[in-house]
Amino acid sequence: MPLGAILDWPPDWTLLRNVGIGFVAVLWLATAFWTFKDARRRIGNPLLVALATLLGLGLPFVGPIIYMFFRPPEYLQDVHERSLEIKAMEQRLVQLDQRCPVCHARVESTYLLCPVCTTRLKAACSSCGQPLDALWQVCPHCATPVQHVLPTLEDVSRARGLPQQQRQLPE
Ligand SMILES: [Zn+2]
Ligand SMILES: [Zn+2]
Repeated sequence: MPLGAILDWPPDWTLLRNVGIGFVAVLWLATAFWTFKDARRRIGNPLLVALATLLGLGLPFVGPIIYMFFRPPEYLQDVHERSLEIKAMEQRLVQLDQRCPVCHARVESTYLLCPVCTTRLKAACSSCGQPLDALWQVCPHCATPVQHVLPTLEDVSRARGLPQQQRQLPE
């Protein structure tokens, strides 16, 4: 049908009606598609997403509005990010809540001994006396190299008074 037919008077009512119906149909499909997209971002269960999409399709225009009343308030992405944040916060709390391995009394990271059962928790720096973590090679407070408590192989052989050659493994 030529475009000029719309401008003619009296107008072609059939054409106008068809254009109106087409417009409403496109709007209906668009709102149904929006319902599907929004549901997919908010609902984890694919069955419920399908149900929401069916609602948007089955009840034109009213379905999406009903869906908006009952949809979950948050996006799945936000829920996921928040759960990660909570997990990280819990981990930080666990790190703050240090316990003596023997009597489970609460201890601080600066304690050398457990004040309740006197278990040694950390070694002290030989120079400044600050507590040292087990993996530290140097004292972060005074830059003194850490002397580890466990003896090396050289220390053992020297203590036994063995000459260097005898330390080697037999062939
Ligand atoms: Zn203790
Ligand atoms: Zn030190």
